[in-house]
Amino acid sequence: MNNDTTSFDPKTWLEEKSAARETASFDPKTWAGAGETAPPESDPPSTAQTGRRLPTAVFAAAGLVAALGGGAWLWSGGNEELPVPDEVPSRSATATPAPKPVAGEPPRIVTVRNLQNLTLALEQMGVPLADAVGVARETVGALGVEDQEMRVEVVLDGKGDDRVVKSIIAELSGGSGVRLTRQTDGSYAREENLLNESTKIRSAEGKIRHATFYASAIEAGIPDSLITPFAKAFSFDFDFQREVKQGDRFLAVWEERVTPQGRRLGPPRLVYAEMGTGVGERAYYAFTPPDEVEPRWFDAQGNGAARGLMRTPVDGARLTSGFGTRVHPIRGFVKKHNGTDFAAPTGTPIYASGSATVAAVAPNARCAGNLVKLQHNENMQTWYMHMVRFADGLTQGQTVNQGDVIGYVGTTGCSTGPHLHYEVRIDGEPIDPMTFETTKVEPLVGEAKTMFLARRAEIDAARE
Ligand SMILES: [Zn+2]
Repeated sequence: MNNDTTSFDPKTWLEEKSAARETASFDPKTWAGAGETAPPESDPPSTAQTGRRLPTAVFAAAGLVAALGGGAWLWSGGNEELPVPDEVPSRSATATPAPKPVAGEPPRIVTVRNLQNLTLALEQMGVPLADAVGVARETVGALGVEDQEMRVEVVLDGKGDDRVVKSIIAELSGGSGVRLTRQTDGSYAREENLLNESTKIRSAEGKIRHATFYASAIEAGIPDSLITPFAKAFSFDFDFQREVKQGDRFLAVWEERVTPQGRRLGPPRLVYAEMGTGVGERAYYAFTPPDEVEPRWFDAQGNGAARGLMRTPVDGARLTSGFGTRVHPIRGFVKKHNGTDFAAPTGTPIYASGSATVAAVAPNARCAGNLVKLQHNENMQTWYMHMVRFADGLTQGQTVNQGDVIGYVGTTGCSTGPHLHYEVRIDGEPIDPMTFETTKVEPLVGEAKTMFLARRAEIDAARE
């Protein structure tokens, strides 16, 4: 029996086990628990091929489909007519009695509530303890539950020390679940079952009222994990230390994947970011161009937010010193100040303001402290001073992408408090990075633009 025929097919089961109860609604408490659910050996679930097989393309497309609403897609045929066995089974973890070792064992089905239950069940099926722990942990971890009833279907192979879990499917009562399939190298490929999940759009709006953007965003209800990405969307437009002030407005829109029970699946994703400051208004939509893998920010016309250099090459959400107040000048040297200072807590990430080759990683470079120099093109360098430490593994000669973390704010060298001293140098001469104009890059065109406009319309509709 190959993997295709080991899948559980609720329709088959329904006919075999409880044909008289076709209209019964799904109830996890009546899920089959133990031996009664294993299909007879003489009658393997031969129709399973029509049940759970999902073309790879469906999984690939799921991300797109689920991107905004309408995210439900079929895996096992929905939860509307799952079977109900005749007897209410024990809710404890009980393995199916071991069948005679025949080629192609039928799948075992157990109902468990947690990692310990599942580990025990697998061990009772003959899986060596270490493997049982590993598979159980991966399965329960993928579902993201701690104590919740789940129906687990296991296909096993081999004997003794070689007994392995070939595949495992774990489902929660709402229909969401996960399937792990053993690969030739012993690892497990994971497929998420997004059945019945939906995508919820949420938004939060606020004004800068606190000493950091971060505190203001938290107060407005923006999830913690989205605050840095939000600020980063505007790092080409606003100097977060000098141009974002008390009373400035912000609006974040994000989406969350949720199960029918309202359980959140995975982290929220920021899809729209809007900010109004004294400098101007900016609004960006997250969009992944067709030949790329990560979303980027685009304005309403499909122009990328990214430019030559970032104006805030440090995590803007964490900049301190108070909006609307002048940054305390930190002058480590008497001579003319050549750059821009960003005061931030020690350890705040510093970004490469543009894609570059690392020209220097210099520890204790006199007044500059721990210093990084990036070479962006033949003429242009950016310098980053006073770091508490460099990014792990950063070495001279390597290339970095715009927005990569190159180090962390500190107060090494001639410095009176933690800050980033940032310089832009052209032909060796420092220029004022705040007046340095760079052009926008890469507007979307053609099909990518069409796709973007459709995505923009979705986001606009969802946030109204
Ligand atoms: Zn400085």
